[in-house]
Formats: sequence, structure tokens, C-alpha cells
Amino acid sequence: MIPFLDLAALHRPLREELMAALGRTLDSSAFTLGPEVAGFEAEFAAYVGVRHAVGVNSGTSALHLALLAAGVGPGDEVITVPMTFVATVAAIVLAGARPRLVDVDPVTWTMDPAALAAAIGPNTRAVLPVHLHGQTADMPAILDIARRHGLAVIEDAAQAHGALDHGRGAGSLGTMGCFSFYPGKNLGACGEAGAVVTDDDALAERLRMLRDWGQREKYRHELKGFNCRMEGFQGAVLRIKLRHLDAWNDARRQVAALYDAGLPPHLGRPGEASRRRHVYHVYAVRSPRREHLRAALERRGIASAIHYPHPIHLLPAYRDLGYAPGDFPVSERLAEEFLSLPIWPGMTADQVEAVCTALREAGDDG
Ligand SMILES: *Cc1c(COP(=O)(O)O)cnc(C)c1O
Repeated sequence: MIPFLDLAALHRPLREELMAALGRTLDSSAFTLGPEVAGFEAEFAAYVGVRHAVGVNSGTSALHLALLAAGVGPGDEVITVPMTFVATVAAIVLAGARPRLVDVDPVTWTMDPAALAAAIGPNTRAVLPVHLHGQTADMPAILDIARRHGLAVIEDAAQAHGALDHGRGAGSLGTMGCFSFYPGKNLGACGEAGAVVTDDDALAERLRMLRDWGQREKYRHELKGFNCRMEGFQGAVLRIKLRHLDAWNDARRQVAALYDAGLPPHLGRPGEASRRRHVYHVYAVRSPRREHLRAALERRGIASAIHYPHPIHLLPAYRDLGYAPGDFPVSERLAEEFLSLPIWPGMTADQVEAVCTALREAGDDG
């Protein structure tokens, strides 16, 4: 039996350290924000390579507050992609703006810069590229287009902790970067959490206010804010896990290299673009016979998943965006062909080989 990921195995060697940190937080009663969150924010900002990180209660809140901090609101359009997790588009709607979708590149599966350039209109206010599966979008091209049109760039880096583009950290490339620390992410909390990172002092201040009811001074609400504060327990956990993130990402890259070498040649593989460091939050292959392969893995006790089976414009909840089948052919084809294979930092070479063998055999049995 091979699970999709094994979080318990990841936490086992850290158990004492995690329990001690949780105990300290319990004794301090600093359950919301507080010193552990502040400590994590400083350490995570330094890790990403920016001046500020603002801890929040989810990746969705990070995206929502980043859009508000950028001044996005009713009447504005925000350009993003249909091949993403639903939260990317939900956050745009939550901010009161209209999501405008553009297709992804068939090799990197991230925002196609030419499609972005063609979609910019008078109401476009911001661009929201998604670093899908752990590889940054083509940020040099996207930033260049955004600069020429005066648009904010908000990175959805929820799958890309530690990914690099020309040596710079995912999240540090645009105006703001948004992270999720959902447990299964490359850096995961033991619960829900997220963060917005930025180099801009004024935006960081706005974000700190927005996550805490729009106040700088208690009960003097200057902005219409929310309760999106990060919990103390999550800050304590994330500080400990952050120290292992680079080693965990290296281990994921080793698993990916074994897959690259061992999978049968008929399967499409993730393409790592030059000067980008992919951190393989997801390792997805492509096959027109995806369902057949999934069933073959399941028969051998190997878990798999699909990220994502439906592009956003074809989801019932987002029919009102007015798109139709055929509008984004690359995303639609990926949704039909993607198959995510097991990957986590402690996955062994034998386990990877078992998955490769199962897929080779499945290719031969019709
Ligand atoms: C996980 C994820 C989010 C949302 O993060 P939550 O912490 O679950 O709210 C947003 N965008 C992408 C691409 C994600 O993978």
C-alpha cells in the first residue's frame, strides 16, 4: 500500500519539538497572533527574501486580503487561469471583482503570457498568476506586461513554498505573494493557516490591519477589516517545520527525478522550465487513458489524485462567469489527462519504483 502522502511520518521525528512548542504556547495563552506568529512571520519573510510576511488564517484569506490591499473592488477585473484550485477565483469574487480567465501554457501548465496580454482591458486592475504544482509561472514575462499596463501582480504561491525563478523566491516576484499552510502543502500547519508576503511597507501595514478588523489602535477601525488572524499554535508549528522546508523540497525533487527516469515513455511529465526550481507539491503525469491508469494503481493499493479534474470555468458554481466548453482548450485537456502520483519528502526509491512498475504494466494490459 502506498498512500498519496504520509504526513504522520513527516511529523514523527519532530514530535517532541512540536509538542514542547505547543505546550509553551498553551502556557503563554497567546492563542491568536502573539510572539510565535511574529517569530514565524520574520523567519518566513527572510526565507522568501522579502521585508514582510503577514500571517493569516488560510491561503484563501491571504488571496482575499492581498486583493483588497491592492485596491481591487467592484467594477475591477482580475486576470487569472482556469487550471487552479477554486480558491484563486473565489478570492477574486470575495473581493467584489470579476475574474477574467486566460488559458495556461501547454508545457509549464501556468499562465500563458501572450493570453494575458490579449485579455487586458480598461477595467483590468490586477493579475493573479498561479504557481501550479510547485513551479512558478513565467514571471519575467508576466511582470513585464503588468508593468506596461500599471497592474498589480499577486502571486498564488500556495503550492510553491521554496520554488525559485531566476534564483528568487516564489512570492517575492510580484507586488504580493500569497501562501497557504494547509496541512498537505509543502510547508503545512497542523490546522489552517496562510500568509501574504511583500516588500512594500504600506501594503504590509494595510494587510496587518485588514486581518484584524481594520484596526491599528484597538477599537479604532480605520478600514473595513475581518478576523483573518493566524493562530498562535500554527505559528509555533510553522517555525519548527520551516527549518526543514529546503531539505523536504530537495527530497521531493529527488522523488520527481526518479519518476522522470522510471516512468514509461508514453506518459507526459511535468516540464521544469530553465532558470526555475520546481518544488513538486504535485507530480502529475498526463495520459488520455488516465482513468485506466488510476484503476490499475488502485488495484495495486497505490493512491493517486487529480489536480484538477474540472477547470474553473466549467464548474457549476462559476457558470455565471459566462464561459463555455472550448474557451480554454489547454486547461480543458489537462483536466482530462492529469494524474497526480504519490509524492512526499519521505517517499522511498522502492515506493517510487513500485508506482513506475504499476504504470508500465498498466500500459501493456490494453
Ligand atoms: C491550497 C490552495 C489555495 C487555498 O489555500 P487554503 O489555505 O486552503 O485556503 C489557494 N490556491 C491554491 C493554488 C491552492 O493550492
